[in-house]
Amino acid sequence: MIFGEATYIDVILPLPLKQKFTYQVGDEHVSSLEVGVRVAVPFGRSKIYAGLVDAIHNTKPEYEVKFVIDVLDQYPIASSTHLSFWQWIADYYMCSLGEVMNSALPSSFKLANETYIVIHPLWDEDTTKLSDSEYLIMDALLLHKRLKIQEITQILQRKTILPFVKKMQDLKLVEIEEEIRERFKPKLRKMIRLCDGVHPKKAQLIFKSHRHSPKQEEFLNLFLAESKAEIPFHVFCKQHGFSTAIVKALVAKGIIHLYDLEINRLEQAEISSAPLALLNEEQNRALESLKSPIKRVNLLHGVTSSGKTEVYIHLIKQAIDTGKQVLFLVPEIALTTQLVSRLKHAFGDLIGVYHSRFGMNERAELWRDVKSNLRFPIIIGARSSVFLPFENLGLIIVDEEHESSFKQQDPAPRYQARDVAVYMGHHYKASVLLGTATPSLETAYNVHKGKYGVVFLKERFGGFSLPKVHIVDIAHAYKRKRMNGHFSEALLTSMQETFDRGEQVLLFQNRRGYAPQQECQSCGHVPQCKHCDVSLTYHKSSRNIRCHYCGYSEKVTSHCKSCSKQDVKLKGFGTEKIEDELKELFPDRVITRMDLDTTRKKNAYETILNAFEEQEIDVLVGTQMISKGLDFSSVGLVGVLSADQMLNFPDFRAFERAFQMLCQVSGRAGRKKADSEVIIQTFQPNHEVLKLVENHDYTKLLKSQLVERQSFRYPPYFKLIHITVRHRNRRTVDQASFLLANSLRSVFEHRILGPEYPSLDRMKGYYQKQILVKVEHSLSYPDSKEKLNRYVNAVLSQVSLRGTKIRVDVDPN
Ligand code: ADP
Ligand code: ZN
Repeated sequence: MIFGEATYIDVILPLPLKQKFTYQVGDEHVSSLEVGVRVAVPFGRSKIYAGLVDAIHNTKPEYEVKFVIDVLDQYPIASSTHLSFWQWIADYYMCSLGEVMNSALPSSFKLANETYIVIHPLWDEDTTKLSDSEYLIMDALLLHKRLKIQEITQILQRKTILPFVKKMQDLKLVEIEEEIRERFKPKLRKMIRLCDGVHPKKAQLIFKSHRHSPKQEEFLNLFLAESKAEIPFHVFCKQHGFSTAIVKALVAKGIIHLYDLEINRLEQAEISSAPLALLNEEQNRALESLKSPIKRVNLLHGVTSSGKTEVYIHLIKQAIDTGKQVLFLVPEIALTTQLVSRLKHAFGDLIGVYHSRFGMNERAELWRDVKSNLRFPIIIGARSSVFLPFENLGLIIVDEEHESSFKQQDPAPRYQARDVAVYMGHHYKASVLLGTATPSLETAYNVHKGKYGVVFLKERFGGFSLPKVHIVDIAHAYKRKRMNGHFSEALLTSMQETFDRGEQVLLFQNRRGYAPQQECQSCGHVPQCKHCDVSLTYHKSSRNIRCHYCGYSEKVTSHCKSCSKQDVKLKGFGTEKIEDELKELFPDRVITRMDLDTTRKKNAYETILNAFEEQEIDVLVGTQMISKGLDFSSVGLVGVLSADQMLNFPDFRAFERAFQMLCQVSGRAGRKKADSEVIIQTFQPNHEVLKLVENHDYTKLLKSQLVERQSFRYPPYFKLIHITVRHRNRRTVDQASFLLANSLRSVFEHRILGPEYPSLDRMKGYYQKQILVKVEHSLSYPDSKEKLNRYVNAVLSQVSLRGTKIRVDVDPN
């Protein structure tokens, strides 16, 4: 910047446009400007955006520039190091810097016309301190509860509204409305003790004076023999083989009191940290080689329940002891509450959880905290936490690195957080640890090439063996009419044996709902979604059929909508159907279902897990939700109702995914006990993937899959870019995709596949066609992308194709 000359800034705006936006800075603002602060700037005829300063200079642009309205931050919220990291994401994943900013920043940093404002909960309602404008707004808020920024503009009749709102935010008069707010729900445990004023002798007396059964007597005697006055109810029943109903009589007689005890989830965690667990020999060896690694990126390949988490904990300790920040990435925060409590147990309040379900203000606070490296040296978060403004990052751990949920599908940037973490290691000079029992092929390949280091944990902690896997041929069983609903005899027998041992069962069916389809037996009609090219799934509890893509639903009818005959049957099955069958098969058992439908309500997921942990549940039926990292001590059996849908999935990653899924779900069995079992039902008992799961043979899976990938030109040998062209009109989609594919062929030749209709050719009312680009690593990747971008823009600018949308996905899942 030269003194005396006009100052300009380049601003990142939250828009999918790739060009730069330059503004002039008035003298009054020059001194408070820095790279990384937010500014309010005008855009178009009447819009105002909060943008981020990317560069400050004296170069006057060719066009007429507008002035910055105000500077919104006193201190930068991102540094130039973070901005160059964002730029890398934008370039690699082919989107605008504005789109990266939109994903990166917590929403309360993103003031825009559509944002809602509400009264701040701490406002003291003292109107005498307010300015006239503030008074007008607070008054309107008292009346309407919430206002859009646009409406505030109208009320005050002034253009530059963002700085004004920002000031009201700072004064704690208003805040940005939070969509969802995490509420703390205490964990409860059912306990029993004697009623007030009843001592053991008296208990016996009251008991004798009523009618009673021998079971009740046994219950009471065992209870009175306990050394503790209050004991966990469900554990007690399990231990002695009582049904939980038996307590009712004793409660009714005024002898036993049954109540909920609130347990502090983190217990000691609040008081700083608990001592770290002592590692076993294998874990120690792993830790030693990870403490001073030769490579920047390492894989911790440890079988399920080998104690990877304990190794992470020791590494984290080492990093924070040297003053570094640690990022712990997990696939989904909501599904990892167990893990979070374990880490909190070790590190207490040194941990910040970055959670999309947390309120915006909390997220903004955490953002500033990380930026100044204050309270939380350890951050746990799902994929979006890669954007946090780390200042002194030393270690990144990616747990369950094979999980596909590290990839963001929509909106752009469509990034893969594991891959981004590897880049961050390089950008921030931090070491990166990828941990899993079933590495992704990409990671295993990088280890194989010597790009990443690797450390193994081959034994389960405590010396427990991996569960025994049995493959059950249900084709055979169906033919002989030996199936009971969807259950084979082998599975039913095993379940009964597991119950008899006082252990729990997990049942996995990777499909929710009751039955996937309703089919007319006369004409074959299957009800379809109005907007998507898929059939609707039947949901028994809500008596409707629903689209799992867009949520469209219809009421169930008993007659066919096509031929009107009363001949509609259900085909296939989901978790809800399994739950129903179980209730018939085991009427005395407590059966619970965990899938998207039963966990919609806040805390539902945690409530179910707690109940399972407390052994209040005998059987948990669930979708992939139950396969992820859960650590339960008394699961004796894991049953997979049908492996076929996974194996037959039309995708080049199907076998890899099926193997990972089956190993992970099997890994929930026998974590604290010997002799656990897994039963996998299938129509293809000789399928190679099932054989490999049976033998826990990852190495062989890797070898055979790598051969396939290479010969069919797939990752990790080739890079993929997936392009989807969409339009409401089928003809326009055909034209646009044809034009794009043709022009791309002129450069990429045989590396272009398509255009083709995907398996789902209409979604949410849009027709779609896809083009696949397969490039070898030797072809310069940035150069390919630049050419690709040019052709995409050429198609988008054609007037006759107006309304066309093009989605570009680099390294698709
Ligand atoms: P993974 O992450 O590899 O699946 P976990 O870290 O969950 O395995 O470990 C499995 C179980 O063994 C957990 O309950 C954990 O607390 C226990 N465990 C593992 N290592 C140790 C150790 N060194 N000391 C005590 N318990 C351990
Ligand atoms: Zn739909």
